[in-house]
Amino acid sequence: MDEEYDYIVIGSGIGGLASASMLSRLGYKVLVLEQHDRAGGCMHVFDDKGFEFDTGVHYIGGMKKYETRINALIKGTLKWNQLGAEDEHYAYDTILMGDHIKHDYRSIIWKEDLLHKFPDDKEAIKKFANAIAIYSSIPSMIWGLAKLYHIWFGNLIMKFIVWYYPELGMSWEELLDSWTDNNELKQTLSGNFGDMGGLTKECSAWIVLGVHKHYLREGAFYPVGGPLAITRGMIPVIERAGGRVLVRAKVSEIIVSERGCAMGVKIQKGKKESAVRAKLGVISAIGYSLTNKLTQNKLPELPKSLQQRSACHITIFIGLRGSQEELKLPSKNFWMFPGMGKEETYDDFISSLRGDFCQKGRALGFLGFPSAKDPDFARRFPGKSTAVLISELPWELVEEWKDEKVDHRSDEYQAMKEKWADHIMETCMFKHFPNLRDRIEYKKIGSPLSSAHYLGKEQGESYGLSFPVERYTKSHEFLRPETSIFALWLTGQDVLTSGWAGALGGAELTVGAIAGYYDVPAILSGKNLWDDLVKMPELKEKDFATDY
Ligand SMILES: Cc1cc2nc3c(=O)[nH]c(=O)nc-3n(C[C@H](O)[C@H](O)[C@H](O)COP(=O)(O)OP(=O)(O)OC[C@H]3O[C@@H](n4cnc5c(N)ncnc54)[C@H](O)[C@@H]3O)c2cc1C
Repeated sequence: MDEEYDYIVIGSGIGGLASASMLSRLGYKVLVLEQHDRAGGCMHVFDDKGFEFDTGVHYIGGMKKYETRINALIKGTLKWNQLGAEDEHYAYDTILMGDHIKHDYRSIIWKEDLLHKFPDDKEAIKKFANAIAIYSSIPSMIWGLAKLYHIWFGNLIMKFIVWYYPELGMSWEELLDSWTDNNELKQTLSGNFGDMGGLTKECSAWIVLGVHKHYLREGAFYPVGGPLAITRGMIPVIERAGGRVLVRAKVSEIIVSERGCAMGVKIQKGKKESAVRAKLGVISAIGYSLTNKLTQNKLPELPKSLQQRSACHITIFIGLRGSQEELKLPSKNFWMFPGMGKEETYDDFISSLRGDFCQKGRALGFLGFPSAKDPDFARRFPGKSTAVLISELPWELVEEWKDEKVDHRSDEYQAMKEKWADHIMETCMFKHFPNLRDRIEYKKIGSPLSSAHYLGKEQGESYGLSFPVERYTKSHEFLRPETSIFALWLTGQDVLTSGWAGALGGAELTVGAIAGYYDVPAILSGKNLWDDLVKMPELKEKDFATDY
């Protein structure tokens, strides 16, 4: 490749694409490189045999903020559909635990809902509400600042935050235990814990409060046209500024000069390697440890407490015969925990499934119907509907097949996948939607090996690094935009936190740092990256030479 770019971005998830789109709008020429055969990362969708499925974005909150921000980064205007039904106050998550809990999470009246269900736990619910309010205030801003300035400053302000708000230095289990002994309330407040995955005792309360806040404030939303609409909207903006988004372009090395400066990357295409130079810098959106591998381990190793990867999943993509009018599928999500006992802790339930996935009557299942979430689905796929059913599945259960070729793995692996999928479908989906049994026309099962192959995840982890307390209180030395290699930047979910909005926040932090928005004079003058981007005129059809 002879062309030169101002910046090269590795990875085309929301972290990489949004970084590239922001830089493009600021006038830079950016090359985005993606190893998969399509752009989008966890936002990518695939279609097969007449059905289209989302893969890693099922709902997004905070839309008052994100609607205008995303419109500043895409061609045209993106519409969003609120999940849930009006007569159910737009409940977005229904939690079904054992036979004892059925709880709808819905915004605005969520506190009343909890108080109604747990009248003896007023104090605990008040503390939960206060903790969410704390999360949305000063600490999150300070946490971002800790990642931008000198490490001693970060150490100082993070120590202060944890001293002043001790709940933010606790695990979710510890925080729940400090509020109440009522196990049913603890279970209910952990109903969407699958958004983090794993065990509550290993996960920072900070991120759980953040996720609750993300959805409880305004409810949950889905892009009209599916997550592909976001990817499709950003690519032309990058190309309009002279940049490109290349797929099947796996970066095999970040070229670092002897003086410690990132100069460009090497791209692997089959057995051939080519080099591309970046005039101003390389931005990696593939996570800290993969980035480090590409530099031949020139970055400092992460401390042990931060090295653990997040949970892995099995996903069943189900194509259904019948339109939305016929099947009347709900647009809200379901978090299902059949077989969970009243007295059982969340962690004991998940741990027991790790030991024996196919226990009779017991499973964890997240169920959503992408076709019901997207009002444009019926136009594109008339007479069809889709379901996506997900459960946690440890990497260790599939590891023995990791070296087999994708789509040509052994019969034994296929049989295991079928067995796991049948178990979750029977125990979760058919239990609540028995009418769908005779409607299935298509089924595809993705395991952690699929995430490893299609998303480049080292051990099939879904959300990048895991979420220990230290990640939110002591990681600012490593998980920050700037790296120890000059002109090499990190972006995406490992910079701040996981989730579509977390990865977008990573992009904001990184591009803001690159473009000088966090320099003290800029801050004092009130400069703000989003304000500047949102103020720019929206890019309409007529602003593009090529018809995309
Ligand atoms: C099953 C699942 C469900 C989820 N559900 C939700 C949800 O409902 N709501 C929500 O907010 N979040 C959800 N998330 C999380 C969210 O999707 C992610 O946190 C976020 O999209 C991550 O964005 P990212 O850009 O940081 O990384 P990614 O989207 O992972 O993008 C990284 C990209 O880098 C590419 N790559 C890797 N190595 C290389 C290389 N060497 N060269 C070139 N390219 C490379 C990968 O192929 C990938 O495309 C879910 C995730 C999963 C997996």
